[in-house]
Amino acid sequence: MIDPFGRHISYLRVSVTDRCDFRCVYCMAEDMTFLPKADVLSLEELDRLCSAFVGLGVKKLRLTGGEPLVRKNVMSLVRNLSRHLQSGALEELTLTTNGSQLAKYAGELAQHGVKRINVSIDTLDKDKFRAITRWGDLDKVIAGLDAAQAAGLKVKINAVALRGVNEDEIDAMMQWAHGRGMDLTWIEVMPMGEIGEQRVDQYLPLSLLRSRLQAHWTLEESDYRTGGPARYFTVKETGGRLGFITPMTHNFCESCNRVRLTCTGTLFMCLGQEDAADLRAVLRRSESDEELIAAIHSAIARKPKGHDFIIDRRTQTPSVSRHMSVTGG
Ligand code: SAM
Ligand code: SF4
Repeated sequence: MIDPFGRHISYLRVSVTDRCDFRCVYCMAEDMTFLPKADVLSLEELDRLCSAFVGLGVKKLRLTGGEPLVRKNVMSLVRNLSRHLQSGALEELTLTTNGSQLAKYAGELAQHGVKRINVSIDTLDKDKFRAITRWGDLDKVIAGLDAAQAAGLKVKINAVALRGVNEDEIDAMMQWAHGRGMDLTWIEVMPMGEIGEQRVDQYLPLSLLRSRLQAHWTLEESDYRTGGPARYFTVKETGGRLGFITPMTHNFCESCNRVRLTCTGTLFMCLGQEDAADLRAVLRRSESDEELIAAIHSAIARKPKGHDFIIDRRTQTPSVSRHMSVTGG
């Protein structure tokens, strides 16, 4: 699959549910309305869609959400998709999780060929963790991390940089992550969905965070890539890797290789644009994949050049109306 700008699409992110057991302040409003279950694809339908993408050249598949591990029977989807790893068609099956259910599932994930996972942790302070996630328990997440590492999974920590909330922890979080053999990636907050708070109050540009880190640490540029948008540095003093995802300060769209599927079978060709293709109707219309494959190709042909996120005091409405939990991270 090649889009109009010559970019090869080889990476599919799939939100398997829009539901979550947390309510992170930058991701969701406290009072969220979730999709009716009837609108959500069955696990068999998700498998069929993902498999069609693998057939079209997708090499990397990331399950996300909402919280992927709260979807009932999600392990049966992971098990089924792992056949594409065994056949060699798929190079990587991975997931992004808040870690709350990892203690339960880490072993099974490893058994099914998952090698690396991303776990989102924005702070190491229990009270702050509760305040950011509204409902989360840091001890449970740390127990999940322990289980993941014990099962042999390579863990990368994702942290959203939040002004006045975790900016005092940038050194401590890095030392902690690198001390446990985990990469750490910082993410700029994106203006997606109404969250009942001002984005501009949350937003902390990573250029600032990086220059603060550089006052104490030696950040050496690295050409390491994971197929995602992060740019990496090696920290000389710790030997660990530090990533930066900067949708606001540095647009990374020119090298975008991704498309995103929601749990209702809607394909978003860009995280930061509203245009989408409804693959559920096509999927349900026919048992053959012919029409589905044509619909995927015509969607890829509409992939936009990039996003136009804006966060400032004058811009009160989010750049994109849907929440991050709909299209997943
Ligand atoms: N629930 C899982 C988790 O938290 O890892 C997976 C889904 S979550 C939407 C994926 C990633 O998106 C997380 O790392 C989260 O911190 C990040 N995220 C959510 N809302 C965001 C926003 N508005 N801007 C930037 N990152 C966001
Ligand atoms: Fe849930 Fe992840 Fe969104 Fe937090 S960031 S509310 S854990 S989907």
